[in-house]
Amino acid sequence: MSIVPVEKLFTAFNETADMMKDELSCTYLEALAETGENLFQGKILQDDLSEWTYKRLEKLYSEIKLAEFSKEEIRKAFQLAILKGMKENVQPNHQMTPDSVGMFIGYLVNKFVQQQSYRLLDPAVGTGNLLSTVLNHQLDKNIVSLGSEIDDILIKLAYVNANLQTHEVELFNQDTLEPLFIDPVDAVICDLPVGYYPNDIRAAGYEIHAKSGHTYAHHLFIEQSTNHTKDGGYLFFLIPNGMFESEQSVHLHEFIKEHVYIQGIVQLPLAMFKNKTAAKSILILQKKAPEVKPPKQALLVDLPKLSDGQAMNNILTRIDRWFEENKR
Ligand code: SAM
Repeated sequence: MSIVPVEKLFTAFNETADMMKDELSCTYLEALAETGENLFQGKILQDDLSEWTYKRLEKLYSEIKLAEFSKEEIRKAFQLAILKGMKENVQPNHQMTPDSVGMFIGYLVNKFVQQQSYRLLDPAVGTGNLLSTVLNHQLDKNIVSLGSEIDDILIKLAYVNANLQTHEVELFNQDTLEPLFIDPVDAVICDLPVGYYPNDIRAAGYEIHAKSGHTYAHHLFIEQSTNHTKDGGYLFFLIPNGMFESEQSVHLHEFIKEHVYIQGIVQLPLAMFKNKTAAKSILILQKKAPEVKPPKQALLVDLPKLSDGQAMNNILTRIDRWFEENKR
């Protein structure tokens, strides 16, 4: 992929968002969602802009033909603009899923989920970056995708992101741990929000809930996602490395033993994280079903630095071999 189209599109998003942010007295991220929607609709939707801004926007939009950009170019340009906006103010748990992680999850989804047509859910969809990275890596598949997110600005960005990349995504702006009115899906991907879930009454409805105090939201997300997955479906979670050793992990272990098979744990390179305690892994689960057998051995991999081509090739060969032995 050439870097030039990404830069060109980023510049358009950035300049127009900056102009609208000042004039609409909103944050950069809100303005970015507005300008993205304008570009997608091919018209300026805000009626409270000055004539000068209106004219400038018209000129800048006329220089961009979305159809000339690939989905990945659009995703990357929008992602760069979101990253810039997030530097202004964002809580750590709202951060976008990094590209390299999204691409590797996309690769895993491609390997594990064999159906030609399937339903894919991201229950903490955020800006939609992870979901669209994964979608862009599934070629010739017919995927119905769904996302749920509590933050109304992030979900607006996810909506605009999906429109710009022409992905059909059904989005729900809600607390995912409240009842979720969606039919079961074949696969789940999720960069889990890590921390305590404040709503103890709601948490009490989950098998996994802590017997006293707040329950970990990331544990509840695993249960809720499993509840919404078809028997035999796959789940891919980005988890904190220490998740299975925490003081609440007893309930998590019980839940996992009862409902799913661990297919694998892929530890991401420590160099990707600011410190060891922030490091993460990808947990791959399959929901139990009468015809589903557990793998002979779970796939346990430490990913090397993604820039180390040789080491990465060795790992991909190991993963292929694991598939031959466990999934054929
Ligand atoms: N994958 C996303 C992306 O690429 O932008 C980022 C996911 S971020 C690590 C976790 C997300 O979970 C945040 O966007 C946060 O707002 C959302 N979240 C946290 N608690 C939630 C809840 N109870 N229900 C729905 N979304 C929640």
